[in-house]
Formats: sequence, C-alpha cells, structure tokens
Amino acid sequence: MFLYDFIIAGGGASGLMLAYRMSKDAYFDDKSVLIIDKDEKNTNDRTWCYWEKGTGEWDHLLTKSWHKIYFGSTEYSETIDLLDYTYKMLRSADLYLHLKSEISKKSNFKFINDHIQLIEDNGLMVHITTDARNYIAKKVFSSIFDVSILTNQTAYPYLKQHFVGWFIKAELPIFDENVAGFMDFDIPQYGNTRFMYVLPTSRYEALVEYTLFSEELLDFGQYEAAIKNYIQVKFKLENYIITEKEQGNIPMTCYPFSDQNTSNLMFIGSSGGWTKASTGFTFANTIRYSSSLVQFIKENQNLKNFNIRNRYWMYDLIFLDVLHKNNALGSKIFTSIFANNEINKVLNFLDEEGSILDDFSIMTKTKPTINFMISGIMNLKQMIL
Ligand SMILES: Cc1cc2nc3c(=O)[nH]c(=O)nc-3n(C[C@H](O)[C@H](O)[C@H](O)COP(=O)(O)OP(=O)(O)OC[C@H]3O[C@@H](n4cnc5c(N)ncnc54)[C@H](O)[C@@H]3O)c2cc1C
Repeated sequence: MFLYDFIIAGGGASGLMLAYRMSKDAYFDDKSVLIIDKDEKNTNDRTWCYWEKGTGEWDHLLTKSWHKIYFGSTEYSETIDLLDYTYKMLRSADLYLHLKSEISKKSNFKFINDHIQLIEDNGLMVHITTDARNYIAKKVFSSIFDVSILTNQTAYPYLKQHFVGWFIKAELPIFDENVAGFMDFDIPQYGNTRFMYVLPTSRYEALVEYTLFSEELLDFGQYEAAIKNYIQVKFKLENYIITEKEQGNIPMTCYPFSDQNTSNLMFIGSSGGWTKASTGFTFANTIRYSSSLVQFIKENQNLKNFNIRNRYWMYDLIFLDVLHKNNALGSKIFTSIFANNEINKVLNFLDEEGSILDDFSIMTKTKPTINFMISGIMNLKQMIL
C-alpha cells in the first residue's frame, strides 16, 4: 500500500489546475500529493476557449484572442464588439506542459500513469485500485467521469454539447482573424439546436466546428458533411487542407454531482458539475473553482460541504428543460439573448455574475417567454412538493 495526503485522480484540466494551485501554496509543502492519469497528457487533445475581462492568468500561453465575436441566425446576424471582454483560445497541450513543469518543481508532488479501476471512501481513508497497485489517501479529488450516473436517472434533463471540429488551412486568405464566429445558427436545424463555431487563428487558418445541444449523437460522417458544406457555402472555399481534428461530447445537465461527494472524496471538473449546464463551458469555472477549492481544503473541511450551487443553477435547469422538451428552440433563445441585451450583461450573466435586476431583464427578453414561464413554474412546483 502507498499512502498519500492527497491523491488527484485524473490529471486533465481540473486535476492539473488543482494540483498546480496546491503546489503554489506553501500549506501543501509538507503534504504528499499524487496525480494519477491513464494518459501522459502530452498531446493537444482539446482546445479551450473562454472569455475574460482584461488580462488573465493564462494569457502568456494563449494561441489567439479576439475582441469581437460573430453571432448569426436567420433573424439576427451581427459582429459584436466584446467591450471589456476578450475571447481567448488556449491549446490544451500548452497548458498541460506548463502546469506539469510547474508542479514538478515541488518534490512532494508525484505523477503516475495508470488506469484507475475503483475509488472507495471507507469514512477514514480513500482506497484507490489501479491496474498496477493499490493506494490510500486522506483526501481524493476525482475528475473521472462516470456517465452512467446521468443515464441511470430521469429526474434531471440531460443534453449533450457534441461536436466535431476541423482545423483547416485555406489556399486563400478568406478568414477575418479579428472576429471569432461564436454561434452561427444560420444552418439547417433539423429539429435540434445546431450551430457552427469558427475560430480563425490567421487569415488562412481556422477551427470550424459543427456543434449540437441535443440528446442524441450523430454519426461522425454527419458532422463532417455539415462542416464541409458550411465551408463551401459560407466561405466559397474549395481548396484547403485539414491539419487536425477534434471531437467532444460535454454533459449539459443540472444533475447535482456534489451528491456523490463523501467526507474524503470529492468530484471535480465535469464530473463534479463544474460544466456550465446551459453552455457546456467548463474552463473558466475550472480556473475559479480550483482556487476556491484550495482555500476550502486548507480549512480541512468535510468535502461534502464544498458548494458551487447558486441561483443560476435554477435558470440553467429551466433552460435545459425547455430545450429538452423542444430541442429546436435553441436558435430562437440564443438569438433573443444576443439581439436584445448588451454583450457585457450577457457575458456577465453566463459567468453567473450578473445582478438580480440584470438577470431578470435578460430572462424576460428571452423568447419564447411563455415556455420559460411554464417550465419555471413546473420546476418550482417539483422542488416544493
Ligand atoms: C474537444 C473538447 C473541446 C472543449 N472545448 C472547451 C472550450 O472551448 N471551453 C470550455 O470551457 N470547455 C471546453 N471543453 C469542456 C471542458 O473544458 C473539458 O472537457 C475539460 O477538459 C474538462 O476537464 P475535466 O478535468 O473535467 O476532464 P478532463 O480534462 O477530461 O480530465 C479527466 C482526466 O481523467 C483521466 N482519466 C479518465 N478515466 C481515467 C481512469 N479510469 N484512470 C485514470 N485516469 C483517467 C483522463 O485521461 C483525463 O486526463 C471541451 C471539451 C472537449 C472534449
């Protein structure tokens, strides 16, 4: 048996970010910390985007940033100045490398590549069984996602943000590298919420992603056909090469992930509910929650008491409920949000930092209002009863 003060199970975005923050805090200098991941995390397995006001902690690692975004739909299309905000793109390979090299400066932090089979809290200690051996820790933070907890329940609507993206290099300088294509719903919806996401990194290069917020995944070929068609129709582009591809399936749900936590075992990242249920954005929450979690750990608290739920949980639940019942409404909903509100307020709202008055103003302008009202009343009724 190998005993550690802390084990971080899964060294992806949230696991490495948490380990990094712990390694920068002198409180952990005399603690043993083990990070276990089945992979080496030395490839670019995803590209993160997030918005921030002004400069930020990871700016030195960014691939690209934009001060304008494009929103498109059949009813409203606009290039929007982000004012105080910047939309930022960070390749995971760059962040993994940086975090791992910083963490490795502390000799009490250790990395292991192994596949975890089981994690169990016996009330005193947490036991971890991997393919190679067994470990024990006083506290464990796990970002290993078990999708069966979502598929085995029906109480909370569960949609997926699923997508395939092509990094392409065009023959001609056809992209406006100053504008990130945030959401373009002006494509066939086929009864779902479907949009294109275009992130130009130069006039010749862009990530073009076909994204759905829906229940069922598509065949890989369907995503690719849609991307190919969009590039042809939107950019009139025939000659380009695909330099890289990415694929994702991010949970969109208000399921209370923290219910799985025990006094010594806590789920973090997407498996801990750090994904914003209505958008799938997780990275900005990972930056925030990893900081507050370090403070929480230092107070040696029961891990069941780490709370991230706020009033936005209810808003997201209503939104998901509406989209779950009528998946075609996404384009209308997002159009009304972006067309009828100042961008600063929209991004603040999505960051869960708006004032109650601004939240109310955004929600009353969000169409179709009647669906939201009915869903809100039903959800409230369910919670009270
Ligand atoms: C392609 C893609 C693009 C995304 N883009 C964005 C974006 O632009 N903005 C945004 O906010 N969010 C984005 N996300 C969502 C989210 O930010 C990422 O999924 C993020 O990586 C989630 O962090 P995590 O720590 O929860 O999970 P992960 O980063 O996936 O980390 C989990 C780790 O656990 C390891 N693991 C799993 N099972 C085991 C096991 N049994 N034993 C040992 N190790 C195991 C995995 O190897 C992995 O390293 C994207 C997701 C994907 C997939």
